[in-house]
Amino acid sequence: MKVLFVAAEAAPFIRTGGLGDVVGALPAALVKSKIDARVILPLYADIPESYRNKMVFMGSVNVPLGWRNQYAGLFTLEHNKVIYYFIDNEFYFKKKGLYGYFDDGERFAFFSKAVLEVLPLMDFYPNVIQVNDWQTALLPTYLDAYFRNVEGFENIKTILAIHNIEFQGNIDKYCILNVFGLPRHMFNVVEYKGDANMLKAGIESANKVVTVSPTYAQEILNPYFAYGLSDILEARKYKLCGILNGIDTDLYNPLQDKSLFQSFSVKSIARRKKNKKGLQSMLGLPESDKPLIGMITRLTAQKGIDLLFAVSREIMDLDIQMVVLGTGDWKYENGINELNSYYPTKFRGIINFSAGLASQIYAGTDMFLMPSKFEPCGLSQMIAMRYGSIPIVRETGGLKDSVTPYNPEEKTGNGFTFKTFNAYDMLDAVKRAVGTYFNKADWNTVVTNAMNLDMSWKKSAETYISIYEELTSKD
Ligand code: ADP
Repeated sequence: MKVLFVAAEAAPFIRTGGLGDVVGALPAALVKSKIDARVILPLYADIPESYRNKMVFMGSVNVPLGWRNQYAGLFTLEHNKVIYYFIDNEFYFKKKGLYGYFDDGERFAFFSKAVLEVLPLMDFYPNVIQVNDWQTALLPTYLDAYFRNVEGFENIKTILAIHNIEFQGNIDKYCILNVFGLPRHMFNVVEYKGDANMLKAGIESANKVVTVSPTYAQEILNPYFAYGLSDILEARKYKLCGILNGIDTDLYNPLQDKSLFQSFSVKSIARRKKNKKGLQSMLGLPESDKPLIGMITRLTAQKGIDLLFAVSREIMDLDIQMVVLGTGDWKYENGINELNSYYPTKFRGIINFSAGLASQIYAGTDMFLMPSKFEPCGLSQMIAMRYGSIPIVRETGGLKDSVTPYNPEEKTGNGFTFKTFNAYDMLDAVKRAVGTYFNKADWNTVVTNAMNLDMSWKKSAETYISIYEELTSKD
């Protein structure tokens, strides 16, 4: 089985969030299961020199895009037993960062088309091409429009993976013919509610649509979650399914994480204490055994930051400490700074992006708050559980699929949950967690349950493989 992942980001080369984590980990897990999984990315200027130096040039092609012809160079590199390819075009990708340019639609349309044009250079004709999010969602449409009669392309099946439906690649419909260069008879595939919608084109053209958790696959049929796409998804429900992401359990391993004050595992939970002390002293919070609640997050509306602010006084009145690490919207960053000045001995907010500090927070906090408005999968709650910090989450998307509420009768469950997007329901879940914390036997059970949960990619990889087999068995 040969699978090509097409994505706008992948760890460790370049990433801005969960998408990069998934594309960095899933292909490696598939390779371990004997699938020939490879990955292709844009060659951004920000990909570190250390990787660029190892890349080998494979050739170049011209990519027709509307009325233009654009150069596409192809480079390759093997990393962690996975073969990676990179599309080079300095006009589109020699820029700072990944996204946020006025011509993003054109940049990623080019990338999607270029991937198909360079397949002969790779001499790798996959059975399945898996595209990810809006940036690469036009590829299945290009495949249908221009490549179906080309030798090697006839039987390629396509999967669109939706990591977050909020971002759709919405641009002027003028671009469908003039920039994307799609034929007139395919206009309707891309056009949606008066715009060009790249994600919608993927939903229409891909053979299968996968989201990153089973609950999110259900939720996006509902207008509250679908950002305008619920009716098209309802019509294409027959090809929609959800597979829960895993995490890289080698990377996120409290026994080997070099950033920690003290390594530990589920067999030595008591050693976590040193991480709590180390974190408190580093942050200038009083060293104490009070419950320490953490958040590591993008500071955006999706992550439920409004709920935190709505009941911040009530939370801070509890006998707890709290640390928040994040960057994002200006109004939320300001709010975090205000909490710093109101509660200097109880609250520490750090406006920064730091992987090392994130590890120290996962390992040093007792609880991890994630009250998301919606959460396609969420990796943070899984990393928190792996490090023994107990998640307090809203029952949405992947949070619902990965966190089971603690049941003190049966001693089952690995976290605390609440249903509605309501600050007082969240507060109630925080209080339940804090209450349980003071019952040491129960707390030890919930931490053990969380750390024992299998969050590796193995299970998800097996489910993906069964989908690949199902798709290709019809040939
Ligand atoms: P999303 O992809 O929606 O931002 P996820 O929970 O899926 O949310 O993934 C977020 C990832 O980014 C986690 O690995 C988390 O630890 C990391 N992260 C988020 N904010 C920060 C930050 N300020 N510093 C370090 N890591 C962060």
